[in-house]
Amino acid sequence: TTLKDSKEKEGCPGSSLLKDLIPLGPEESAMEVVLKKIQELSDSDQRDPFMVADLGVLASRHQAFCQALPRVSPFYAVKCNSSPWVLRVLAALGTGFDCASQVELEQVLGLGVAPSRIIYAHPCKPISHLQYAARHGVQLLTFDSEGELTKVAQHHPGARLVLRLWTEDSKSTFPLSAKFGASLELCGHLLKSARDLGLAVVGASFHVGSDCQDPHSFAQAIADCRRVFEMGRGVGHDMSLLDIGGGFPGVEGSEPEFEEMARVINAALAQDFPEGAGIEVIAEPGRFYAASVCVAAVNIIAKKAVLQPGGHRKLLYYLNDGHYGTFRDLLGEPYPRMPIVVKELCSKPPLFPCILYGPTCDAFDTFFNEEVQLPELDVGDWLIFPSMGAYSSVMSSTFNGFLPASICYIMGPELSFCKWFFPSINLAAASTQPRPEESFSICGLKRFLPRHLRRRN
Ligand code: PLP
Repeated sequence: TTLKDSKEKEGCPGSSLLKDLIPLGPEESAMEVVLKKIQELSDSDQRDPFMVADLGVLASRHQAFCQALPRVSPFYAVKCNSSPWVLRVLAALGTGFDCASQVELEQVLGLGVAPSRIIYAHPCKPISHLQYAARHGVQLLTFDSEGELTKVAQHHPGARLVLRLWTEDSKSTFPLSAKFGASLELCGHLLKSARDLGLAVVGASFHVGSDCQDPHSFAQAIADCRRVFEMGRGVGHDMSLLDIGGGFPGVEGSEPEFEEMARVINAALAQDFPEGAGIEVIAEPGRFYAASVCVAAVNIIAKKAVLQPGGHRKLLYYLNDGHYGTFRDLLGEPYPRMPIVVKELCSKPPLFPCILYGPTCDAFDTFFNEEVQLPELDVGDWLIFPSMGAYSSVMSSTFNGFLPASICYIMGPELSFCKWFFPSINLAAASTQPRPEESFSICGLKRFLPRHLRRRN
């Protein structure tokens, strides 16, 4: 029995999320599947929250990453969205994987991925997880402290170690440097300690913080890694691996654009780690791959109107998914995300300041730190949130007895080359899928739809 099996038996949330995989017609989009499902559910009182995950989008994100960063091999960060379908598609596409724990290692190894395609990229590992990595041949490990070196020397002496550097991450939505990363001043000492313990350090890594807004954070960190490479070589390590971590933007259309970030990274690599010097460059993208894969649909279960000074109305909408479910990540974001309203409305409906609450009894269970402007809606109406595939279902809890949103996976014919991975799926049936009827209009906010969610024709 694996640790993952036993956790699932204990009822670990997320263990039963895997639902059917629906083949998609060539002209169908994820948004149409969402609208069709909303229509089905709206005929009943069972209006539970759900997500639709388009695995074709995952493949196109992979393509975009490889095109923009041709020297960089992606090791997808499993923590971001560890759905078995997501991992299977990425394994079939040939990415590597960044795992943070034994369960993640089990999940990826269980798909038949070679241990050499995995980096165990958590600088502070439990001993039992470290021993698991050693037993299963996962050799690439990150570290950022003396204590971790002592543990590795005892429990995984054959490891190929990657020293994680501290980065300046104040320009990122989710900073990480208070918790992880060795300062440049400490690196020399750590590299010597590793050598004295008989351990092999093979490279350097960093993480600029998740959802990084400033490409120059990457450039600075790459320059710092060059210094670490020089220090490492100076004490006898064979430095050959540069890991530029995650932090790439997730939501399409966000600023700065990924392509701009990639240009800065490519230039920094050319300057500090020129091609032909035998350096392998990897990255650990999470958000960039997973965010736009999922569209989330939530239903209004209660509503209140409060009068503000001046007689203005403020609307409180209580939704059946929230901070303790799919939407935990949103509170950390600097701006509220505008949902798509699924309702027939006049062309320019009046908008009201609204607060979106999740379903639990906790007052902290809100979507955003500020009000959003939405039209007047009713109990039973639906809201759609695109780009909800990153740090969403993986964070879901069953707090207050509200179950995580179910997930419906869809896959277009463009992924038929992965068929050997999905033997039970009849992709030929794709074109016979009925199209959703056009009885819903997407109120005003269509411009927030990312390109891939618009109709494909
Ligand atoms: N690698 C490590 C070590 C991380 O901690 C994280 C996120 O916390 C990632 C990669 C993925 O980052 P992102 O989703 O910003 O790409």
